Amino acid sequence: MKEVHNFSAGPAILPQQAIDASIEALREFKNMGLSLVEISHRSAQWEETMQAAVNLVRELLKVPDDYSILFLQGGASTQFCMVPYNLLSENGTAAYVKTGTWAKKAIKEAQLFGNVQVLGSSEDKNFSYIPKDFSIPGDADYFHCTSNNTIFGTQMKEFPDSPIPMVCDMSSDIFSRPVDVSKFGIIYAGAQKNMGPAGTTLVIIKNELFGKSGRKIPSMLDYKIHAENDSMFNTCPVFPIYLSFETLKWLKGEGGVEGIAERNKRKAEKLYKEIDDNPMFVGTAAKEDRSYMNICFLLKDDSLNNEFMKAAKEANISGIKGHRSVGGFRASTYNALPEKSVDVLIGIMKEFANKHA
Ligand code: PMP
Repeated sequence: MKEVHNFSAGPAILPQQAIDASIEALREFKNMGLSLVEISHRSAQWEETMQAAVNLVRELLKVPDDYSILFLQGGASTQFCMVPYNLLSENGTAAYVKTGTWAKKAIKEAQLFGNVQVLGSSEDKNFSYIPKDFSIPGDADYFHCTSNNTIFGTQMKEFPDSPIPMVCDMSSDIFSRPVDVSKFGIIYAGAQKNMGPAGTTLVIIKNELFGKSGRKIPSMLDYKIHAENDSMFNTCPVFPIYLSFETLKWLKGEGGVEGIAERNKRKAEKLYKEIDDNPMFVGTAAKEDRSYMNICFLLKDDSLNNEFMKAAKEANISGIKGHRSVGGFRASTYNALPEKSVDVLIGIMKEFANKHA
């Protein structure tokens, strides 16, 4: 297989070791004479794996004992409605910060359930920064934020101390850095960036939040039911969970979230340095809010975009076309992206500048 530098925003690059282990499990799972996808999710062999995956999430993120760890389906987008369904009471208010496309979608879904107060928004500058001067109302049912804005390349470097349960969409930076889970009521993340393939969604929820909204909730959207059934209320997606588990085993071998955070920072900072130093490019996100996961930048002369894309392709760089809401380029530097790939990208940026000097 040719070596490709995969900067895709998600589904994204995964460790080869995790993919290889999952191929093995697809061939045969735990000497059962059957493939992973042919066995019952109620088998002892699967239950053991599921438990090990939950334990590993708990270990890597230091999740306190009074939180449940769930592997659900429906993507992060389903969480946009599950959160208000479970937390927003009939006459209550939910507080959101609007930091990008995904936050907007989360707000839209919450509005189906009740009152939503938008505490801060960066829409005035095309979501190029993280709003900070807001205070969280103590009488709202919960506060919702997005830790990393995949499309606009901004990231919350710190989280506020919230007087009410803080809910965070960490889809694009979960497991990329340590977080203090005890600050949050709910953390959720679609798997398909740092954790695994699409098909499962990780939810970490403080148990005291079960049934908080007082609403009648359909079983599949009720966190309590999933927790009581160890994420196996219905047939769970064994393959995405397995590949996520193998990815997390790889992460542990790389020094866990502490170890990978250092590497992620180094990768991102060297690319931002090139963007700042290179006369042809400019970054789009406010410097203090720059994401260490999704790095958005433009060519000052956008008539050269196609030529730069061609140069990238020739260097086996894949997935750097920017999202249409920002334009230009987006290099996603998730956990599994080797530092070498960043060096290759920096190399072609330098070459491009030399050629056009
Ligand atoms: N939130 C964020 C921050 C995302 O980046 C994405 C998808 N890229 C989503 C939510 C939606 O996730 P899903 O496709 O799993 O529903």
